[in-house]
Formats: sequence, structure tokens, C-alpha cells
Amino acid sequence: MTVEQQFSTVRTDISGHLIQDLVMKFGTPTYVYDAQTVRDRIEQLRQFDVIRYAQKANSNIGVLDLVRKNGVVVDAVSSGEVFRAVSAGFDYDGEPDPIVYTADIFDREALDLVVEKGIHVNVGSPDMIEQYGQRVPGGEITLRINPGFGHGHSAKTNTGGESSKHGIWHEQLEDCLALAAKFDVSVTGLHMHIGSGTDFEHLSQVCDAMLQTALRVGDTIKMISAGGGLPTPYRDSDVGLDVDRYYQLWNRTRKQLEAGFGHAVSLEIEPGRFLVAESGFLLTEIRAIKKMGRNLFYLVDAGFNNLARPILYGAYHPMSIAFKGEPTHETQDVIVGGPLCESGDIFTQQEGGFVCSRELPVATVGDYLVIECAGAYGYVMSSNYNSKPFSAEVLIDGDKTHLIRKRQSPADLIRGEVIPD
Ligand SMILES: *Cc1c(COP(=O)(O)O)cnc(C)c1O
Repeated sequence: MTVEQQFSTVRTDISGHLIQDLVMKFGTPTYVYDAQTVRDRIEQLRQFDVIRYAQKANSNIGVLDLVRKNGVVVDAVSSGEVFRAVSAGFDYDGEPDPIVYTADIFDREALDLVVEKGIHVNVGSPDMIEQYGQRVPGGEITLRINPGFGHGHSAKTNTGGESSKHGIWHEQLEDCLALAAKFDVSVTGLHMHIGSGTDFEHLSQVCDAMLQTALRVGDTIKMISAGGGLPTPYRDSDVGLDVDRYYQLWNRTRKQLEAGFGHAVSLEIEPGRFLVAESGFLLTEIRAIKKMGRNLFYLVDAGFNNLARPILYGAYHPMSIAFKGEPTHETQDVIVGGPLCESGDIFTQQEGGFVCSRELPVATVGDYLVIECAGAYGYVMSSNYNSKPFSAEVLIDGDKTHLIRKRQSPADLIRGEVIPD
């Protein structure tokens, strides 16, 4: 089978901005995001009544500002994410709710904030209903339901079924409704974040579970949310999502509910990865090339402190070389690693930590290596391990480049630390 090549292993620019120029201006390692790609993905989802960005995928306030200006609202999973949203210009109040707090617990700070600011809550445990009800009797909530089945193989990414910690177990629905009623709290929304990917048979099971659950709750329901989990391509063989078909399935469920309840039901989608993954590039410089027996390593100046998906999930990212000097036309199999004193600091690895190689152009020290499709769950999972500073982040918008986060300085690394006297 031949697949169309969507990822090239040679790159000169990002949206017309030469890699060389970006590196001169911002250094490496640096995350670069292309605003137009984010806008394009938003447009693809316009059929949904509400696009709620799961900001945990990339919560830089420059990115939040971009999505806000394009009519997108946000999800927040912590009080810190609420603070980010407000800093990026989102209001507490509005229709639809500009910020929704979604979690399986309230830490004390989040509960205080939600109560004080009147933030709508998507509740993921019976204890949250109790804690919310005591503080906001007569309020309105959304329930996140675990329908009893999930999708995906990894315990780290599966969001439904018995081994998932997320949401309210479907068989506890009636208990939760009774608990809410005790505080005069009404359930106005239902949410399922299962992540069917491109498996439409599975998706229709999720839609069916949503329909049945909503009918059990009754006509207080004004909103259903399809959650996130929309896939994006990371390899040439990955097929893009048929957004229209995805929408049609959910829209049918919504229409059935509207017919049953006799009032409008709003349909939300809650993508993280889908909006930002393809917009992002991690620019690195190759600092050493060395042989280890039969293996050849390209060692770059970014590590899993900058991008953790490969070591966490064995995630695959496309990579390309931007030549500083003379371009070559030959390729070779290489292992790509970072600078950390940790043998797992390898970008070319599979789940389970198995190191693998990648066919990339023959490069020399000083050339740039670009890790692509890195806009989601990239920067946000950064750490200061090995006392490496957080990278810079840059937003490209047309012919402009904006530094949306400065690289950390050495002083930033020890900020807040104290030597006892
Ligand atoms: C993480 C998350 C999302 C987004 O998931 P993606 O796979 O990035 O689309 C949406 N909703 C909730 C509640 C989440 O926790």
C-alpha cells in the first residue's frame, strides 16, 4: 500500500519563516506554534454549537487568547487553569459558560474559587456533588459519566471502563441524582470523554450510552458534551478524522433528546490535541553525533524535560532536519536523544521504552532537528529535571512572530528556594 507522504524529513521553514531565522531570533530549544493551523482546526469544528478547548493540551495564555478570539471557550482542570483563562481574557460569566471546571476532585482551592466566582462544574465523583451542594445549594452542574467501557489500550490514556478513575460510574447515576436533589442542585449537562478516535462503531456506542443516560436524568438536561479525544495525524499512515461523520452521530443523539424533552439541547465538543497538535514544532540543534557499535545517535539540545510524550507513552513524532550548512541528499538510520543524564532520554522509542531508529537525512553538528506535531501535551508537560530551563515559546501569525513565553533564566530555576539560616 502506498500512503501519501504528509511529513517530509527535510524542512526549511515554518509557514514561510526560515528555521535559521527563528533559531537566530529565539534560540533552541524553542516551541513554535502556527496560529493559522489552530484557526483551521477550529473552523473544522464549527458545526458544533460550542467548541470548548481542553486547555491542558497547551495552556500558554498566548494560545488561549488566540482561541478566545476565534469564538472558542475553555475547560479548566485546576484553579491554575482558571487563572490562566482569566488572564487570557475569558470572563467568569457568559452564555455558554466561558470557563467550566472539570475534574474528579475539588482541591480546597478549586472549590473556593468555583463557589466564589460561580464557575460551572463538570463533576466527576459523587463526593464532588456533596461538596458543591453544601456550598451552592440550588446550583446547576454537569455530570461526567463513565459509561462502563472505554477505548484504547494504555492505562495512561484510557478514559472509560472499570480501570479508569474518571467520571461517575454509570450504575451510580440514580444515587447521584438523589444526592444532587438533596441540595436542590439540578443536573443540566452530561459529559462523556471516551475518545473513540476514528472508530465510528465505538462512537455510536458512546452516543447511545449518552442518549440512555440523558433520558434517565430527564428534561433538566440543556447540554451534552462529546468530550475530546479527536485524533490527529502523527504518521504518514494516519488518516485524518471525518469530522462531518463525527458530528452527524452526535447531532442525531442531540436531536433525539430534543424531541424527547421538547426543548433545545446544546451540543459541545471539547478537543485538546485536535486544535493544537499539528500547529506545534520543537526546534532543537544537533550538538553531537556519535556511534555506539552499530547505532548512530543524533544528540540534540532538547530532552524529555521539554517533550515527555515519547518516554511517557512511546509516542511517535515526525522529525525533520533543517540544514544550517550544505544540504545532503542521503539518509541514514539514527537514534535521536537528548542531553539528560538518563538513559530513557530518547525521542525515538516505542511503548515499553524500546529504542528504535529513524531514517533521517545525513546531518552534521550545528544542523537543526525539528520535532513536529508537538503542539499538544508538549510544553505543558515540561519539567526542570537536570535543572534545564523551560524552553521559549513562539507564536507565528502570518508574517509576524511573537515570543509568547521567555526562556527561563538560571535565576528562575531557583526562584522560591531558600537556604536555611
Ligand atoms: C484531556 C481532556 C480533553 C482533551 O483530550 P484530547 O485527547 O486532547 O482531545 C477533553 N476533556 C477532558 C475532560 C479532558 O480531561
